[in-house]
Amino acid sequence: MLDINKIRGDFPILHRKVNGKPLVYFDNAATSQTPRAVIDSIVDYYSNYNANIHRGVHTLSQEATNAYEGARQKIQKHFNAAKSHEIILTSGTTHGINMVATGFTDLLNADDEIIVSALEHHSNIVPWQMLCEKTGATLKVIPMTDEGSLDMEVYKDLLSEKTKLVFVNHVSNALGTINPVKQIIDMAHHYGAAVLIDGAQATPHIKPDVQELDCEFYTCSAHKLCGPTGVGMIYGKEEWLNKLPPYQGGGEMISEVTFEKTTYADLPHKFEAGTPNIAGVIAFGVALDYMNRIGFDEIAAYENELLEYATEKLLSIEGMKLYGTVQEKASVISFNIEGIHPYDIGSIVDKLGIAVRTGHHCAQPIMDYYKIPGTVRASFSFYNTKEEIDLFIEAVLKAKSMLS
Ligand SMILES: *Cc1c(COP(=O)(O)O)cnc(C)c1O
Repeated sequence: MLDINKIRGDFPILHRKVNGKPLVYFDNAATSQTPRAVIDSIVDYYSNYNANIHRGVHTLSQEATNAYEGARQKIQKHFNAAKSHEIILTSGTTHGINMVATGFTDLLNADDEIIVSALEHHSNIVPWQMLCEKTGATLKVIPMTDEGSLDMEVYKDLLSEKTKLVFVNHVSNALGTINPVKQIIDMAHHYGAAVLIDGAQATPHIKPDVQELDCEFYTCSAHKLCGPTGVGMIYGKEEWLNKLPPYQGGGEMISEVTFEKTTYADLPHKFEAGTPNIAGVIAFGVALDYMNRIGFDEIAAYENELLEYATEKLLSIEGMKLYGTVQEKASVISFNIEGIHPYDIGSIVDKLGIAVRTGHHCAQPIMDYYKIPGTVRASFSFYNTKEEIDLFIEAVLKAKSMLS
């Protein structure tokens, strides 16, 4: 059992008011809130040991380097990567995906095929379209079903010797569907294809084991799991990171530079050009510590309880249509009420202090599938409560009576 009151005490923002009402924050799938320990670690860095890393002999630089590399080790341990240099620190999921997509430009030819899923975030569609344009490779899409799951039969048929890469998200940000990534990875490996998993939406709820999954790449953003914005990581198997060329040129990523020839630094530095977000990376490590102290099993169980509670309450509202109704779901609910635009519901509940997201959630192909402009999306975290859900239901009912 989680002590929710104590947990809520760790998050300063949860105590503010919005439009005169206590904040109810249900936009966790867009970004999570930040506990005091994470905020303090950023203040501590800039107050006490702000210095550039890796190059300095002086004490501050060594302290900063130790904290930065210590965070990398925490991340390695959290995801159970075999080696710490298989963890590349990035500015977030989008950065990680682009690093791989750009790196594959030299590894693909016009006969090759890439498979993505219909449930992807835009950041997991556009880079592959760009890659296919550059290489002449073909992009294939695993279609979705009415319940919001992937059609695994079609996926099986799409796979062939031509498949070089498969890209799917672990959890869909628009619908909350938990995809059968282990099965997807195993099936791709049967044809020798590499797999990149977008874990941005899964990592707040699930603690993935990259060795057990056996994926080639796994990427996520710190800001969705209680860390700061603009920081993330991509795990890559060592042999694959060695195959990919550096993503950006600059300081930190070189071994030797002359105008005739430059040799690149070893992993992970080959992919970490320039001065990184040092405080952000350190705070990412603190956020993982914080969540692990609470426990991911406990978090998942409690969030499931919230999901079931909210689903049942919402379904009792007349004209309610839920999207994404598979059994295996993270705590994300996407819905519409017949005859009412999602934006209007979002605006009215905001007046009542409740933050939800409305729109296409950077996943327009899913909206096209359902032939809707968007949805209202409420996404719950372990610091939310059933009382907040009750306030939300009341607000939705009020919006409904005002708008219909
Ligand atoms: C949020 C999200 C992204 C993008 O993350 P950034 O931090 O904006 O790079 C990608 N994929 C999914 C599934 C997401 O939820």
